[in-house]
Amino acid sequence: MTDMFKITLPDGSVREMPPGSTPADVAAAIGPGLAKAALAARVDGELRDMARPFEGNAALALVTSRKNPEGLELIRHYAAHIVASLVQRLYPGTQVTIVPSTDDGFYYDFAPGARGPFTDEDLPAIEAKMRELIGADKPLTREVWTRDQLVGWFDSHGESFKSEWAKELPADEELTIYRSGEDWLDMCRGPHLASTGKLDPQAFKLTRVSGAYWRGDQRNAMLSRIYGTGWLNKKQLDEHLHRLEEAGKRDHRKLGQEMDLFHLDPVAHGSVFWHPKGYLIWRQLEAYVRRQLDAAGYEEVKSPQLMDVRQWEKSGHWGKYSENMFAVPDEVPDAEGEGPVISGDAGMMALKPMNCPAHILIFKQGIKSYRDLPLRLAEFGCCHRNEPHGALHGIMRVRQFTQDDAHIFCREDQLVDEVRQFCDLLDKMYRELGFEQYAIKLALRPEKRFGSEEMWDWAEQSLRDAVAATGRNTPEWGWEELPGEGAFYAPKLEFHLTDAIGRTWQVGTLQTDTVLPDRLDASYIGEDGEKHRPVMLHRAILGTFERFIGILIEHYAGKLPLWLAPVQAVVATIVSDADDYAGEVLAKLQAAGIRAEADLRNEKINYKVREHSLQKVPQLLVVGKREADEGTVAVRTLGAEHQKVMPLDEAIAMLRAEATPPDLR
Ligand SMILES: [Zn+2]
Ligand SMILES: [Zn+2]
Repeated sequence: MTDMFKITLPDGSVREMPPGSTPADVAAAIGPGLAKAALAARVDGELRDMARPFEGNAALALVTSRKNPEGLELIRHYAAHIVASLVQRLYPGTQVTIVPSTDDGFYYDFAPGARGPFTDEDLPAIEAKMRELIGADKPLTREVWTRDQLVGWFDSHGESFKSEWAKELPADEELTIYRSGEDWLDMCRGPHLASTGKLDPQAFKLTRVSGAYWRGDQRNAMLSRIYGTGWLNKKQLDEHLHRLEEAGKRDHRKLGQEMDLFHLDPVAHGSVFWHPKGYLIWRQLEAYVRRQLDAAGYEEVKSPQLMDVRQWEKSGHWGKYSENMFAVPDEVPDAEGEGPVISGDAGMMALKPMNCPAHILIFKQGIKSYRDLPLRLAEFGCCHRNEPHGALHGIMRVRQFTQDDAHIFCREDQLVDEVRQFCDLLDKMYRELGFEQYAIKLALRPEKRFGSEEMWDWAEQSLRDAVAATGRNTPEWGWEELPGEGAFYAPKLEFHLTDAIGRTWQVGTLQTDTVLPDRLDASYIGEDGEKHRPVMLHRAILGTFERFIGILIEHYAGKLPLWLAPVQAVVATIVSDADDYAGEVLAKLQAAGIRAEADLRNEKINYKVREHSLQKVPQLLVVGKREADEGTVAVRTLGAEHQKVMPLDEAIAMLRAEATPPDLR
């Protein structure tokens, strides 16, 4: 019995297992429920197949679908292999290539052979075969091969893409293949589910096909890509499909056009042309944020767009970030007409990609004492970052954006309190803006970083303490620590909003930075009369105005709360007899501070209602002869079934109350 392997489980208990036994055996010994639920095993930290034997004593944790996020990934990855095996059976001559996971599923690229690329019409047949194979509960088994063995197999089966790939691997590497039946195998590191029956036949869908170049290079062969989405069960799949449909309806690019808010034009890739109505939303939001910052002891500044490249060298941005920066020569036209000359000794200037260095330059003006801290410098800072055209997305991902940025310069002993106050301010603002739910995460030191271990220990612990002081470091708040995900100079708090259809958006952020004040030599005189470095907190609540307005539009599906709506009310006439009265109503609304318009067109009232609903006008005040005679209006609220007739003064009072921003109520 001395040969038994000691398998330690997460609860600390130890099971003795004979050599040759597998995680599946341990799961079965614990109970049939667990054996069924287990998708893969973590053996000494490494994710492995359930059927792969232990090599000695080991620590074992079973990955089940319900508990582990990697369960979902395993399911998607496995589904992609199944698609590949079936496509090759259904369409002989198709070659397989690669199998990556996506956010909601997977895709698989095929070389389609003589039959030509796949179309959406091919997908139902493949899906039907997938359900059959899942029902048959066939195992996928792991084998270790040499490279030559693998290349030989691929060559003899006409798999030129896989063969090309395999040939580039080191000759002496042990490679794993997974085999399903006699004639189908795929090269893959694994791990995989033990058999096809582990998948829920109702929890996946093949969604679309597209073209893609082999290895993403347009000089290579064009492949045919099949996309799928995969989930743990049918309920999750249905929710996902519903979310996709909802997201399509709420797309800010579509609503932005229908509501006449903004447009984008290739003449200014990634920069937004705000129309009057869109910019009204911006102005309301900016005024709201400014009131919050004023009340919270921030001081607003404005810093230059262009700065000498040498300043960006000092701050470290030019070294680390220059490929994302727009640089321009510092030139002026020559009066003699000899062409441009360099105007200063700078040579090059760069558009700011962030506001931080400029705020340090402002901080450094004059001597600061410990009594001056904390100093909270805020800026609605317009920044440029050079992103590839393909990465841009509506107003959510742009190249010119305005942050609700601020930098708090404080002493170490003030840090926890500053972070706590920031968390409270952010909480109030998200709620007032209509987001009830958000998650707080702490991104910890990355592998490549500046600064000492002591600095990181202190900075991370300070953020933990500050969030704990607000009582929000609990699972209900989505509190989570993310190892390795901090910035290279600082740990950071991330705030992820959940929108009306359950999507999450990281918007707020706070970083504790001691590196930049050091690089740019910012200091204050302490109580001891000595120079000290301030801590610099980089923080934003909305992130950027562009993206946040995009999120607001999608969250509210365009039906913005009255205080943010660009046009709050439209007075629409039923008959031209009511034109004079409509003019009177409009004047009273405007005098009351309501953003209102009148629609006196000679159109049917239903047509007017439809058009203003499409533009998401929150309140329509319908007036006809009777309303004019009685001094009333028929109020139709966007999305409501019925209209409500009320005296004009009452309607105005109601609109005024609702149009008041939440912080002023
Ligand atoms: Zn695989
Ligand atoms: Zn900053």
